[in-house]
Amino acid sequence: MKRVIAVANQKGGVGKTTTAVNLAASLAATQRRVLLIDCDPQGNATMGCGVDKRRLGASMIDVLLGDAEAAAALLPVNPGGFTLLPGNQDLVAAEVQLMSKIGRELKLRQALKPIRGLYDVLIIDCPPALNLLTLNALVAADSVLVPMQCEYYALEGLSALMSTIEQIRASVNADLELEGILRTMFDPRNNLSNEVSAQLLMHFGDKVFRTVIPRNVRLAEAPSFGKAVLYHDRESRGALAYLALAGELIRREEEAAAIGADMPDVSGESFVGSVTRADSPSVSEPEGVSEPTLAD
Ligand code: ADP
Ligand code: MG
Repeated sequence: MKRVIAVANQKGGVGKTTTAVNLAASLAATQRRVLLIDCDPQGNATMGCGVDKRRLGASMIDVLLGDAEAAAALLPVNPGGFTLLPGNQDLVAAEVQLMSKIGRELKLRQALKPIRGLYDVLIIDCPPALNLLTLNALVAADSVLVPMQCEYYALEGLSALMSTIEQIRASVNADLELEGILRTMFDPRNNLSNEVSAQLLMHFGDKVFRTVIPRNVRLAEAPSFGKAVLYHDRESRGALAYLALAGELIRREEEAAAIGADMPDVSGESFVGSVTRADSPSVSEPEGVSEPTLAD
């Protein structure tokens, strides 16, 4: 698991915000220090954390424009056990004003520098567009997590995103990795879902998360209570699926750390803060949610 993970897909309604909020809560439940950053003017992640986006003090706009330190905008999320850097409609104005600035794609990266080290994981919820806000997120990120609904046009959008990632790698952020592709709102009764899922596995192999997020009404309800699903119905299939996703990320990180332990650490920073702490309960993958199963 990389430290800064951007949750991105230029398609709307694919489960970016649902994934960002619920992954933040699930990782926080394993005692990791988590910061969720709302980079979408819709402010859905902010509202989903129970924070009123119309009544924000300092927020992402101030941080991006350099009018406030990121630390001044942070809010605790309760219940949740993580921290939120909130955003709202003002981000539209931020994007317009950034256009004319030098280094406009580097603003988020610079703003996060002083607080990066305070967290084990920073999760950025991106808007549904390949715009300057998403660009800022991808430049600030170590990896990209791509939620995908397995439907007909899904793969088409994916190639535009992959080439954007390539361009960013070739220019400002050479280390940007694909964290993985996450199948969301999965309905195994739908033949097309299964076909698209098979194609994804063929093209992207082990870059496709084994965990599949089922279509689950509890996941859709939770934001209206301003809570992650873990605090709305922790036994629901949606809650178990996001715990399983956190478990999968952690397991991968442990495997990478084990391989890394055999090799001289040349970067000095590669695994700092990402190694599991002995006191943190690790999340095991619950039965039946890692593979496509019937949604309720
Ligand atoms: P995005 O951020 O990519 O636009 P959202 O996470 O906001 O997508 O999801 C779009 C809609 O679908 C929201 O109403 C959300 O509650 C709902 N939703 C997301 N994931 C699921 C799921 N696994 N099961 C049921 N509803 C979901
Ligand atoms: Mg969203």
